[in-house]
Amino acid sequence: MGNDRYNAVVVGAGPAGVTAALSMAKNNLSVALIERGKYPGCKNMTGGTIASMPFSQILPEYWKIKDIPLERRIVSDELWLLDNDSAVRMGFTGKKFGMAPYNKHTVLRYKFDRWYADQAIKAGAKLFCSSLAVDLVYHKTGPLAKKVDGVILEGGDVIHADVVILAEGAQAALTQKAGLRKRLKPNEMTLYVKEVLELPAERIEDRFNLERGEGASIGMIGFPTSPGIGKGGIWTNKDSLSVIVGGYLNQISGKGLNPLGLLERFKGHPLVKRLIEGAKPIKYMGHIIPKGGFKKIPTLVDDGIIVVGDAAEMISGRRGMDLAMITGQFAAESVAQACALDRYSRDILASYEERVKGSFFYQNMKKGKSTEAYFNKHQDSDFLITKAMNDFGYKYFEQNLDSDKSNLLKMLEELINMQPLSKSAKDVLFGLQNWGVL
Ligand SMILES: Cc1cc2nc3c(=O)[nH]c(=O)nc-3n(C[C@H](O)[C@H](O)[C@H](O)COP(=O)(O)OP(=O)(O)OC[C@H]3O[C@@H](n4cnc5c(N)ncnc54)[C@H](O)[C@@H]3O)c2cc1C
Repeated sequence: MGNDRYNAVVVGAGPAGVTAALSMAKNNLSVALIERGKYPGCKNMTGGTIASMPFSQILPEYWKIKDIPLERRIVSDELWLLDNDSAVRMGFTGKKFGMAPYNKHTVLRYKFDRWYADQAIKAGAKLFCSSLAVDLVYHKTGPLAKKVDGVILEGGDVIHADVVILAEGAQAALTQKAGLRKRLKPNEMTLYVKEVLELPAERIEDRFNLERGEGASIGMIGFPTSPGIGKGGIWTNKDSLSVIVGGYLNQISGKGLNPLGLLERFKGHPLVKRLIEGAKPIKYMGHIIPKGGFKKIPTLVDDGIIVVGDAAEMISGRRGMDLAMITGQFAAESVAQACALDRYSRDILASYEERVKGSFFYQNMKKGKSTEAYFNKHQDSDFLITKAMNDFGYKYFEQNLDSDKSNLLKMLEELINMQPLSKSAKDVLFGLQNWGVL
């Protein structure tokens, strides 16, 4: 390993790194893929679902691949405003999403990432597991002094490459070391815990009203992390359920909330309890999501270096894995161009930055730039709006002896008494935006 030189070395075998490695290897470039875990995905976590779109571009007709470890095709997507013992539910169930090319699938990263990395190996990339990249190597002399020229692994091995792609995920230690990204503050990241609970496929289908192979996604705000901002969620896998809960790190610690305690409390909610009844916990994990938003997007390229995926803060609403893949693909295209010119300076690699800036998700992130500031200022917004909507729902559906008009006036009066209507409208808008609906 020590004396090898590659066209590119990719740090991190998550969706961003593997996509970059796969795409470059398919393009006949030599690629080293470095992963600190014992195998790709062993330390990785997601909610969650993976969108089909980037996937079908990277692996055309992926659904025909026999051993692909996708769990269920999502046909039912819901958001619940969850109060102490009730919920206002909104969502969409669509059979069209159950047909190829599909909309999104549930995945378990400890299965998926390993399989995905195998595709990169089959294409020619070299994977090095249990290998922690601890530093960058720089050209020392000449016009390209300060150009990144490889990575140093824990233990001292050095891997040289024309370009280093940093796909190291949310913590982004090397991206920080390279001076491209600042350390995230606790109010710029969310912390989630997740439990996977085993349940037979037929019981999942019965319980969530699904046909064989179909899946459901239920996101919940309000109760899961009240009195702070956060989310809970339940996703159906083939024969297990993923249950997550979490929120802004500063709010969790500032309010003395314990993530494990939040998970137990969430699982004990009467409406959640029913969905997971009889399911047996088989895995437990925790992870952070960078939530600095648009203003915290780091410098994306420098001489000999490109940052992709979570390391580059590419998170928009509920989407992260697909954006990681797309940025991995963009990086691979720019490296191929650089290799063709045999030039790896910042101005050549800037084509990656241009691709990102021209993307749909960059536009979305730009639009959502003030979300984090709003939620840190109004930490009760999810809770208040959930409460109001549940009170409203109760009164709307309650059969009483008052006229419709007096019922409506009572509902409005309560809403106005809680807080100004303009603030409630903002809470709803930001809540939906945070969940990824707008
Ligand atoms: C609770 C939760 C729910 C989520 N839900 C969804 C969802 O439903 N849909 C969605 O699209 N996204 C979701 N996301 C976001 C999504 O998981 C991330 O956006 C995505 O995993 C980013 O991919 P990545 O390849 O950039 O980073 P990662 O997946 O984090 O991969 C980084 C890899 O780099 C390795 N690594 C790190 N540092 C080093 C080093 N120095 N040397 C060697 N290896 C290193 C790690 O071990 C890891 O394998 C969720 C995230 C969380 C935490």
